[in-house]
Amino acid sequence: MKKHNFSAGPCVLPQEVLLKASEAVMDFNGSGLSLIEISHRSKDFVEVMEKARSLALELLGLENKGYQALFLQGGASTQFLMTAYNLLETKAGYLNTGTWSSKAIKEAQFFGEVVEVGSSKDGNFNYVPKDYTVPEGLDYLHLTSNNTIFGTQIKQFPKTDAPLVCDMSSDIFSRQLDFSQFDLIYAGAQKNMGPAGATLVVIKEDILGKVSRQIPSMLDYQVHISKDSMFNTPPVFAVYTSMLTLEWLKNLGGISAIEEINEKKAQLVYSEIDLNPMFKGFANKEDRSTMNATFNLVDEKLKDTFDTMVKEAGINGINGHRSVGGYRASMYNALSLESVGVLVDVMSELERKG
Ligand code: PMP
Repeated sequence: MKKHNFSAGPCVLPQEVLLKASEAVMDFNGSGLSLIEISHRSKDFVEVMEKARSLALELLGLENKGYQALFLQGGASTQFLMTAYNLLETKAGYLNTGTWSSKAIKEAQFFGEVVEVGSSKDGNFNYVPKDYTVPEGLDYLHLTSNNTIFGTQIKQFPKTDAPLVCDMSSDIFSRQLDFSQFDLIYAGAQKNMGPAGATLVVIKEDILGKVSRQIPSMLDYQVHISKDSMFNTPPVFAVYTSMLTLEWLKNLGGISAIEEINEKKAQLVYSEIDLNPMFKGFANKEDRSTMNATFNLVDEKLKDTFDTMVKEAGINGINGHRSVGGYRASMYNALSLESVGVLVDVMSELERKG
């Protein structure tokens, strides 16, 4: 039986994408060769890379606006340092909204002064700071749009003259935004795109080339751009599968269509959390993420009972991160409304059992 997969990432992918990807592993485009045994310089794979890059820009509404899309390696964690390596000359601002922002700050400190413009550490990151000011003269301001572990999401992005850099690892392609307000967006593939191994970086080209330091080739965005995201052997399987997911999303109607479904899923689970006296939500209501819903049992003694019920319903991956405890239902693009319905039924069944 296929499970209801609420895993935080790597996570659920569309069934048709998994099918096509597995077919390509056996026989790519009827070539008699596997996708993962052909040259990345072959015409067939170069087309895949180009398609993945252009679909990413198209879905974000960033075509012909001076942006480049790259599929790099090293995960979003490498972007913590690569953004700073390429953009931080003297001083950068960071909004600290959780574990991942804190890690980004740590890496940036190797390259220059880091100003923490705001932090929600005092509330164990259960909210998104709002009353902060952005100092003048920043090389960039770094934000994390969705805090995967704590279940908060930035709803309103700051208006600032500083270039905006955003880690969108856990909510890219999930909601409509004016993506042109960002100068650099990065996201590991393993949530809304594909398997782990590729990281999408979308860069407004004119922000590059302004730092005075020498940048090693593999960490230099300009090198990757000049080589059409093929400076070295790209993660071919991850890029191909990401391309399939982006195609799936486009055929579904793009970000506006998936946003509607994502909102329904989030409403369903949050209204259960709010109405069911057995549970309490972790994140501040106004900052709640549509991707990761974090909640706890009011009575921890019911944990074993609830966990057994969850398992029997075929639900996978709702254990909370150790820094929050409780539960986290991750509802990425490919998770169906039906799966959320199954979880909500189990939650209300717990209430009935008392
Ligand atoms: N940023 C965010 C928001 C994340 O959720 C994660 C991973 N879950 C990362 C960064 C780190 O990504 P990676 O494991 O690809 O380095």
